[in-house]
Amino acid sequence: MKRIIIVGGGLAGLAAGYEAQKRGLDFLVLEKDRAGGKVHTIRENGFIIETGPDAVVRYKPWALALAGELGLKDDVVSTLPAKPAAYIRVRGRNHPLPEGLNVVIPSKLGPLARTPLFSLKGKARAALDLLLPRGPEGDEAFGDFIRRRLGRDVWDNLAAPLTGGIYGGDPDNLSLLAAFPMLKELERRHRSLILGSLQTMRKRKTSREGGSLFASFKNGQAQLVDALKASLGDRLIIGSGVESVEKTSNGWRVLSKNGPYEGSHLIIATEAPNAADLLAPIGFAAAAELREIPYHSAATVTLAFEKANMPERGGHGVLFARNEGFSARGFTWLDQKWPHRAAAGYALCRAYFSGPEAEDSPQRLRELALNDLSRLLGAIPEPSRIWTESFKNAMPAYVVGHLERLEKIVRASAMTPGLYLVGAAYRGVGIPEVIRDGRAAVATIFAE
Ligand SMILES: Cc1cc2nc3c(=O)[nH]c(=O)nc-3n(C[C@H](O)[C@H](O)[C@H](O)COP(=O)(O)OP(=O)(O)OC[C@H]3O[C@@H](n4cnc5c(N)ncnc54)[C@H](O)[C@@H]3O)c2cc1C
Repeated sequence: MKRIIIVGGGLAGLAAGYEAQKRGLDFLVLEKDRAGGKVHTIRENGFIIETGPDAVVRYKPWALALAGELGLKDDVVSTLPAKPAAYIRVRGRNHPLPEGLNVVIPSKLGPLARTPLFSLKGKARAALDLLLPRGPEGDEAFGDFIRRRLGRDVWDNLAAPLTGGIYGGDPDNLSLLAAFPMLKELERRHRSLILGSLQTMRKRKTSREGGSLFASFKNGQAQLVDALKASLGDRLIIGSGVESVEKTSNGWRVLSKNGPYEGSHLIIATEAPNAADLLAPIGFAAAAELREIPYHSAATVTLAFEKANMPERGGHGVLFARNEGFSARGFTWLDQKWPHRAAAGYALCRAYFSGPEAEDSPQRLRELALNDLSRLLGAIPEPSRIWTESFKNAMPAYVVGHLERLEKIVRASAMTPGLYLVGAAYRGVGIPEVIRDGRAAVATIFAE
């Protein structure tokens, strides 16, 4: 009889539990702290505050598919359309994002030609993409790839701030194949990223400007977590940090504060360093590789202001190019992106910090956010409310070499009967991917 013990109740672990339940398998989800992991929605006095993830992208279907299965279809909301969708601050000025971006690639020549983000020389260099031959097979650093195809201006003033605002950390050394396989595929298939993006965007029909790229839920991201919690019932045990795992003659024994649990299969859905702590003592062959996956910290500061006194802000927010002298990576104007999240009469601004800056104290983070905001907007009123949260081990970075590391981890898991590792550290950092990952592990166990 199969029984799955799932360690970690972030979305990967909860989705694994849901899949086990759906397939009629016996299971338990053990979470040390908070169901939903990085997802944290605070509902307070008419505000819906996301201190962690803000949205899911629609073109990766796994989160919205799960939401549909959980009966949340009518609660899915989209961002308010905005033209321009957002701004990038370069050389001391805010410039609109060019229309029709495919991830970070301009797909329309008109907006590319018109954007003040790039110099004339930079635009001519970007247009060379139309002529350049394909690059070498295999992996390369994301920064090298974009500079090779589109030039330095596109990297410095568009791709780096955009990816730094999404993935955090230093995006230059991200693995193209692990973090942006679709862009490598674009080059492989179409040679030119611009021409390939044009076709992709025609098919995709979701755009930042149309407000249809990002989705969330009426009551915030935690609505998905709440629905999963309700579905799993007492199979989800909160406050149950797992201290150690042992192999037994026919499966696994897991020791947590609440007692030992036994199962035929073990899914570890924690951050990679926590997985290493649990697996190193049993001689897991890739424990060192788990520890080598770099993580960086992230923090958000969300500020509510009385709207009447707030300077005008354009689009959904602004990202900062490097060397612009801001501490945050950027700001989201939440009341303009998701109007239902702000109480009536309030402007809601969220600063996103990543890397060492994100490790400052909450007090310091608030000061930095307010400094950045007044540098950006001029005189601003006193905030009426501030919510701050820091996440340690927030985001794994898929740096060059990630796929080889992952292969070693997968090989070591395959040699350890009944063991599966899922979550943001491995096959995709976003919510849709971790949901897919958790469910896929259970589908494999079911098929065994
Ligand atoms: C600030 C921020 C903004 C983000 N924005 C977005 C966004 O807009 N869209 C998007 O798609 N993604 C976003 N992400 C990424 C996304 O939120 C995460 O990658 C995803 O939620 C990770 O899910 P997970 O289940 O893999 O891991 P986690 O959510 O990290 O869950 C792991 C869980 O394991 C538990 N755990 C650890 N050790 C043990 C143990 N020994 N015993 C029991 N439990 C244990 C932890 O307490 C935790 O709950 C963002 C992340 C951050 C930090």
